[in-house]
Amino acid sequence: MPTACPGSHNTAWRQAEADGQPHNLQPAWGNPLHCTRCTERAHRELAQLPELLAAIWLEATNGTRGLPTGTIGRSPTHPAWPGQASRLITDHIIGGLIELEADIRGLRGLTGRSIGRREGVVATQSVTFLAAHLDWALEYHPAAGETHDRLSANPASQIHQWNRAATRFTARDERLDHHRVPCPRCELLTLFRADGDDYIECRNTTCGLLLTPGEYFEHTKTLAAGHSGQVAA
Ligand SMILES: [Zn+2]
Ligand SMILES: [Zn+2]
Repeated sequence: MPTACPGSHNTAWRQAEADGQPHNLQPAWGNPLHCTRCTERAHRELAQLPELLAAIWLEATNGTRGLPTGTIGRSPTHPAWPGQASRLITDHIIGGLIELEADIRGLRGLTGRSIGRREGVVATQSVTFLAAHLDWALEYHPAAGETHDRLSANPASQIHQWNRAATRFTARDERLDHHRVPCPRCELLTLFRADGDDYIECRNTTCGLLLTPGEYFEHTKTLAAGHSGQVAA
């Protein structure tokens, strides 16, 4: 019996299975634990982190994000000084990378390494280490089978959260290509393709469907066939 991939794209299937009612949903199977798409995505999102961190530092030093205008005083949810938000997100991501690396070194019986002071070097070294051990981690890390969600310790899920947080912070989400047709699964207009991304992803967090360009094209053809004969209002 193959294992269903713990990725969020299988959420609907897991829910249907848990409900115990007959359904005709098919999960994406793991290869062997994570599906090929989630594995590829984890590698890509990990590799993007050094560049994203550099972009966060640039924003902190150049203040390209600016401060919110028209606000009086400061709210607890807003950073108290320019650069504090970049500090927090940098610490969050680099702290996470170091922790995951130390975790894997411990699990695999590898010696620890001394962590330097220069954040850029620390982050790049961690990413290099994690890239080399990612296939192992996606199969054998104790949390590798955990369903992906914001709080999961699943390495693939953690990398995705770091990448997403950094992408949001640097406002690179704006470079997402919005595919304005309903998602074939959840039917929301939440299909996006990021710059250089191999897959079109549904950003509805309870769906998370991943489509290849070919599958997306087939989906649009099916939609077009369904709409033919209808006159646009
Ligand atoms: Zn998957
Ligand atoms: Zn969807």
